[in-house]
Amino acid sequence: MNVRAPKGTADMLPDVARAWEYLTRTAQDLFSRYGYEPIYTPLFENTEVFTRGIGEATDIVSKEMYTFLDKGDRSLTLRPEGTASVVRAALEHSLVPQGSSAKLYYSGPMFRYERPQKGRMRQFWQIGVEVLGVAGPSADAEVIVLLVRFFEAVGIPAASMRLLVNSMGDEACRPAYRERISAYIRDHGEQLCEECNRRAVTNPLRAFDCKNPACVAVMAEAPLLRDSLCEECSAHYSTVKAHLDRLGIAYEEAPRLVRGLDYYTRTVFEVQVTEGLGSQNAIGGGGRYDRLMQEYGGPPTPGLGFALGFERTLLAMEAAGVSVPAPARADVYVARVDDSVSESVFTMTAALRDAGVVAELDHQARSLKSQFKQADRLAARLVVIVGPDELAVGEVTLRDMTSKDESRVAIGELVNAVRSRLG
Ligand code: AMP
Repeated sequence: MNVRAPKGTADMLPDVARAWEYLTRTAQDLFSRYGYEPIYTPLFENTEVFTRGIGEATDIVSKEMYTFLDKGDRSLTLRPEGTASVVRAALEHSLVPQGSSAKLYYSGPMFRYERPQKGRMRQFWQIGVEVLGVAGPSADAEVIVLLVRFFEAVGIPAASMRLLVNSMGDEACRPAYRERISAYIRDHGEQLCEECNRRAVTNPLRAFDCKNPACVAVMAEAPLLRDSLCEECSAHYSTVKAHLDRLGIAYEEAPRLVRGLDYYTRTVFEVQVTEGLGSQNAIGGGGRYDRLMQEYGGPPTPGLGFALGFERTLLAMEAAGVSVPAPARADVYVARVDDSVSESVFTMTAALRDAGVVAELDHQARSLKSQFKQADRLAARLVVIVGPDELAVGEVTLRDMTSKDESRVAIGELVNAVRSRLG
């Protein structure tokens, strides 16, 4: 049998899993301070949730989805991102009755059939937030600030991050602009790659994302949406930027930032890092999606959010020399002099653990010498030595591994003695 995990997936071994837990804990603490509540949606959805929401002509839907028929012939898809599912759930459970709002956060794996490379996986892990029912631009600023604050909280230095912002317009101003870009692409068809030529019909704005140098050069001269935003979009965008200025959040306007999903309207943003990630340098991003709920047949409900990628955040942390807080090591190792005391060792260790002490024991009939070695490996500060003679008089020996001091302790006093020595 092939024991390798499928291409583009990775086991999270303890060091990485610990980092994931640290990031999710940090997110929980920080996001709840901003009023967000947790939500978990299924890892797979009816395929339509993504085709309708993200858009048929996007890379995600047209090339990257894990779609399959289940035994009941339903077309299901492993979620490629979190927003579509959260909005679907909000609609199903009427989480945002007219006039109300909801602030939600999620974390978990996402699935995209992409070409794996550093920072790009087929199963990757995201943490994200969604704000539903809020149209005002201060919410956009709040969400952007939250993303930046998260990265700062896990130790990524502000100096190595770039925050890019743009406005994608709305249904009032984008259609005409889309037409202009489509015409621009057709006019420059010969200089553009095949895919961009196709995009003229399917999804012209995506041509701004093409990495082909010839296309980049042509699109650099293309008209910018910034210059044809309607009054409302323009005012909204200005207010978002003014709020960021008020908090001293540094950003760059990126008039060609379009992001890969159709549902965005108005504000879009992305945080990139300048070191350690090569081409996959976007560690998080998001935007506003005021029409998504309606796309699903729900009432008009504005929304916005972001998602950040765990793998890339971890690479950025490594590049910045940030380490994840060390795991809890054993405070106490309970050592057995011979097999006659095994049962007492077992119950003493359990009592210490029940009292909240990180305690470890040997399950493999190791010699006393190798139990001490194990205690050293675990960096135990104290070792309880349980021998038959001491046990016969109701006592054990407590050894301080730093000072090497030893003292006899009555078994009934062990938990208190350990606690007071650990401080
Ligand atoms: P997106 O949902 O495409 O806006 O991506 C949001 C964030 O998820 C990105 O900034 C990345 O950090 C992360 N991400 C997206 N796709 C992948 C992938 N294939 N592998 C690893 N991380 C990813």
